[in-house]
Amino acid sequence: KFITFEGIDGAGKSSHVEWLAEYLRRQGRVVQVTREPGGTPLGERLRELLLNETMHLETETLLMFAARREHLASRIEPALARGEWVICDRFSDATWAYQGGGRGLDKSKFLALEHWVHEHLQPDLTLLFDLPLEVARERIVLANRVLDKFEQERADFHERVRQAYLERAHAHPARMRVIQADNTLENIREKLEEIVSTLC
Ligand code: C5P
Repeated sequence: KFITFEGIDGAGKSSHVEWLAEYLRRQGRVVQVTREPGGTPLGERLRELLLNETMHLETETLLMFAARREHLASRIEPALARGEWVICDRFSDATWAYQGGGRGLDKSKFLALEHWVHEHLQPDLTLLFDLPLEVARERIVLANRVLDKFEQERADFHERVRQAYLERAHAHPARMRVIQADNTLENIREKLEEIVSTLC
């Protein structure tokens, strides 16, 4: 099974990724945890460029999908073919939300690339961690993180990203589930268990 985690920066999804992987492993499943941009040696090098260099929007989008093609071919598809579970921290919905919603990439260009790169494969489940922007910002400030170029964007950018994510979840209700990320850890984990059990 292929599960992806999505959400605006500060939604806390990365810690939930680790928790879910352990939860599934305790059930005897083989679980690969990976992330985008990144996930392969080439993908990690592209990640450095994507997060630190200023570039044309279409260059950025093409590099995201190039890294994704490599990730699918060399890591995700082989793992799924072996019957393993793959949990990926961000996938194409992030490109839809950040490059599309946030930066204004033409939706038809996104759809063409998505079709090209993974027409045959969509996640079985996408967990979208949603929360008000102010709460997400507060968490980032509290964590004292060094901000990448996307995190340095203004609030209106992040609000567009959030709305694009919600719009996409609305359009794909069978695949995407929205989780209230400003809930307690306990409530979120309960919800994750409940949703994931429908996949097992
Ligand atoms: O989730 P993670 O912190 O690894 O994401 C790294 C950065 O890349 C974040 O600031 C995220 O918002 C951004 N990103 C992006 N477009 C994508 C994927 C991630 O702008 N398609």
